[in-house]
Amino acid sequence: MSQGKETKALDSLEGIHWPRLPGVGAQMMRPVLAQLKQAQWLPPEALVERQLQQLQSLLSYAQANVPYYQRKIGSDLFDPLFGLTLENWRKLPILRRSDIQDNAADLLSRNIPASHYPLGETQTSGSTGQPVKVTSTSASRLFWSAVTMRDHYWHRRDFSGKLCSIRAIPADSGSVAKGQDSPNWGWPAAQLYKTGAASILSLGTDVSAQAEWLAERNPEYLLTYPANLAALEEHFRSSGRELPNLKEIRTVGEMVSKELRRKCRETWGVPLSDVYSSQEVGYMALQCPESGLLHVQSETMMVEVLDEAGKPTPPGEVGRVVVTGLHNFAMPLIRYEIRDYAEPGELCSCGRGLPTLRRVVGRLRNMLVLPNGDKRWPLTGFHDFRDIAPIRQYQLVQKSVERIEVRYVVDRPLTAEEEEKLRAVIQNALGHPFELSFQYFDELTKTSGGKFEEFISEVAA
Ligand SMILES: [Zn+2]
Repeated sequence: MSQGKETKALDSLEGIHWPRLPGVGAQMMRPVLAQLKQAQWLPPEALVERQLQQLQSLLSYAQANVPYYQRKIGSDLFDPLFGLTLENWRKLPILRRSDIQDNAADLLSRNIPASHYPLGETQTSGSTGQPVKVTSTSASRLFWSAVTMRDHYWHRRDFSGKLCSIRAIPADSGSVAKGQDSPNWGWPAAQLYKTGAASILSLGTDVSAQAEWLAERNPEYLLTYPANLAALEEHFRSSGRELPNLKEIRTVGEMVSKELRRKCRETWGVPLSDVYSSQEVGYMALQCPESGLLHVQSETMMVEVLDEAGKPTPPGEVGRVVVTGLHNFAMPLIRYEIRDYAEPGELCSCGRGLPTLRRVVGRLRNMLVLPNGDKRWPLTGFHDFRDIAPIRQYQLVQKSVERIEVRYVVDRPLTAEEEEKLRAVIQNALGHPFELSFQYFDELTKTSGGKFEEFISEVAA
């Protein structure tokens, strides 16, 4: 790993130099990081073996202390005396989002270990219309933070650099939404290293104001969502404005296109690294610094990709993502169907044994439904739009199995000829002559979680 030359490790709580008082969090973090550093190189079978040991511990605990699992996982499904195999594991029931909503109280342990306090609470965004609350523990948050550090190490970030984040900020955070500057990167990086400054701004800010804010701060690192990044890239490209210090862009929350990566290289000369995470469970996969595949974070999370019959999906095929956090003993989510779809990848050429995802493709509601009932990902062709007409932003909404509403934000009204060309491109990309209606908007809105969806099927959901 490499930290910038300005960076030096802290071994005391900030501001306390004598006698040294090791930070409690940092003290626990170091041994965890040392273990993660080793574990990533374990062969895949060894990782699975260790995961199963930890899952066995979680499962026996849940069966004894969590009412929901007392009912759902009887001794016919799992008997602690006989250990846990992958075969047994795959027979356990899937936990759906509606199960969490219907059984919120029964999913809480009646006997949370004292050492796992203090508890926290995460409320997921209502972007899917089905918000859920998840209780976290000191242990689950520590591992979440350890993976954050791993991401910094993998991508060789210079902690002395300035970090700017533009992200969804809860409406009740008051003045933070207008932008807030901090002297350091915050937990966990600032507990372990002397870091540069960090600033945060609400995603709800106009793109031109975001650009102004970024230019004033001139950061080394930028963190935001892909759809927002695409709008920023266009703004910087067309305005000729620059971010001369920028070294890397990190994205979270949505799928990243190859095109967006290319544009970031062209406009800012920097790479983009992506993280696959969710508010409910935290980091599921980080981008490999060598191959670009997403590495599943096996030390903290079991991630399964399953076909409709519940069997593991082979590399090259898309399946639904089912996750289990290994360490949350307050509210265990066992085999939680997170409602994303992903394509598993092969073993990575970098040598890490952590399994890979080639791509995360989106949610069920982002799938096109064909008139014969088949579903598929409407992923191709749309990038040609701007070659045809001055389209700033678009969104396709499938209203029925035959009809799709095409929503555009445009620089000027389109001609009939342009609409005809677009119709042909869309029908060709979707693989069916859908009936298309064009609608023009001043702005297309993001979901409350800050995500922007290019394709929404009201039929699939
Ligand atoms: Zn790799």
